[in-house]
Amino acid sequence: TLEPQMATEQDTSDGTQFNAPGLVAGLRTYFRSGTTADLNWRRRQLSQLRKLLTENEQRFFAALKSDLHKAPLESFMTEVSAVTGDIDHTLKHLKSWTRSRRVSTPLAAQPGKSYIQPEPLGVVLIIGAWNYPLQLSLSPLVPAIAAGNCAVVKPSELSPATSALIAELLPRYLDSDAFVCVEGAVDETSALLEQQWDHILYTGGGRVGRIVMSAAARYLTPVTLELGGKSPCIVADDADIEVAARRIAWAKFTNAGQTCIAPDYLLCTRATAERLLPAIQNSVREMFGDNPRESSDFGRIVNERHAQRLAAYLQDGEVLWGGESDPANRYIAPTLLRGAGLETAVMQEEIFGPILPVVELEDFSRVEEFVNDRDKPLALYVFTRDEATADRILSRCSSGNACVNDCMMFMAVHDLPFGGVGASGMGAYHGEHGFKTFSHYKAVMKRKNILDLSVRYAPFTDAKFKL
Ligand code: NAD
Repeated sequence: TLEPQMATEQDTSDGTQFNAPGLVAGLRTYFRSGTTADLNWRRRQLSQLRKLLTENEQRFFAALKSDLHKAPLESFMTEVSAVTGDIDHTLKHLKSWTRSRRVSTPLAAQPGKSYIQPEPLGVVLIIGAWNYPLQLSLSPLVPAIAAGNCAVVKPSELSPATSALIAELLPRYLDSDAFVCVEGAVDETSALLEQQWDHILYTGGGRVGRIVMSAAARYLTPVTLELGGKSPCIVADDADIEVAARRIAWAKFTNAGQTCIAPDYLLCTRATAERLLPAIQNSVREMFGDNPRESSDFGRIVNERHAQRLAAYLQDGEVLWGGESDPANRYIAPTLLRGAGLETAVMQEEIFGPILPVVELEDFSRVEEFVNDRDKPLALYVFTRDEATADRILSRCSSGNACVNDCMMFMAVHDLPFGGVGASGMGAYHGEHGFKTFSHYKAVMKRKNILDLSVRYAPFTDAKFKL
C-alpha cells in the first residue's frame, strides 16, 4: 500500500521532499491489479469525492476566503458545485460512456464483429492553477476516475490553504492506492514531470505549458493544456447595453478578474463605449458598493507580486473609474481603463485582474481583423441583437469557447467541451469530453475461424488478381 504521507516525508537526492519515481511505480502496480477497471469501484470513488466536498464545504469556504477572499456563495457556485455537478452528471452517464460501440464490418472482413472499446490510459498527472484552486484540481480528477485511471493531483502552491486542505482530505475519502495529492511548487512539479505518465492535464499559463509539453515529449505522453490569453468582449452598437454591462461586470470582476475566461478587454465603437462604460460602472457599484474594498464579496489578488503587476497596468491608460491599488494588501479596485495604446503591457499581456480596458474602433467591421491579428483566445464574447452579426464574427474568429450575449455561461453546460485552441491550449474536458480525454478508444475486431479466403495470401497469382 502506498501511503500518501510518503509524498511529504521522504527526502530525495533531487531536493524534493518525496520520492516521485516510487510514487508513480506504486500507482502503476495498483493500476495493473485491475481494481480501477471495475465500474462499481469508480462509482464509489466518485461518490466519495462528492462527499469530500459536501462534508467539508465550510472548510473549503474558509480556505478560499483565505487564499482569494472569495465569498462563501461565490465559492459554492464557482468551485464546489462546479465539481459536484460534474460528478452527478458523470455518475448518471458513466455506464453509457464506458460501453463498447459496435461499428459495421465490411463484407470482405466477414464473418467478424468490430467495435470501439474505451479503456483507461493508466496513471495520469493533473496540475492545477491557483485562481479556482479547488475546481481546477478536482474537476479534472472526475473524468480521470470515471475513465478508470490512477492519478496524482498537484494543486497550485499559490493558493496554499486550499492546496493543504485537498492534500489532507483526499487520502481520507479516496482509495489512496489510486489517488495521491502532491503539494509543492517548481521542484516538486519538475520531479513529477520527469516521470512517465499516461496523460498530463495542466492548467495555467503558456510559459509553464511549454515546460509541461517538453517534459511530456520525452515519453510521448499526450497532454491537455488548459491555458489562457486575452479573451475579447465585442459589443456591437445594437447590443442591449444594460444587460451587457451587468453580465460583463459580473464576468470581469468575479474573483477580482482572476478567471481564465474573464473578458480581458472590450472591443466596440466609440459611441458604444460612451454608453457602455457608465453602465458597467453602475453594475459594479450595485454589486460591490461605492467602496469595493469594504465589500465582503469582492476578491483579493492572489499575492503581492501579482498585485504589483496589475498596479503597473494602471499607468497604461486613462483611469475612467476605480484605479486604487494597495499591493501590500493584495487589493486592486475594479477599474475601467480608456485610451491604452495597443503596444502597452495591459494590451499585450493577459490581464488576469479587475482592470477592464476598452479598445475603441472607428469602424465596427474591423473587429474580426483585430481579433485575428492576435493569439487565438480561450473565450470570445459577442453582444448583439443581430444573430447574423454574431454568426459572422463566430465563423470568422477562432476561439476555445464562445458566448453570445453573455460571458462564461458555457461553463454551466456539461455537454460542452471546455478547452483552448492555438495559444490558449489544446484538448478539452468536462462531461463526456473529459472521459474521452482520459480514455483510449481502442479499435477491436473479432473474427471467426471459418471462411479463410486464400486471396490475401501469397503467392499472388494472376488468377487471384482476376477475382
Ligand atoms: P500557477 O502559477 O498556479 O501555475 C500553474 C501550475 O504550474 C502550478 O501547479 C505550479 O506549481 C506549476 N508550475 C509553476 N512553475 C513551474 C515550473 N517552472 N515548472 C513546472 N511547473 C510549474 O498558475 P498561473 O500560470 O499563474 O495561472 C494563470 C494562468 O492560467 C492564466 O494564463 C490563466 O488564463 C490560466 N488558466 C487557465 C485555465 C483554463 O482552464 N484554461 C484556468 C485557470 C487559469
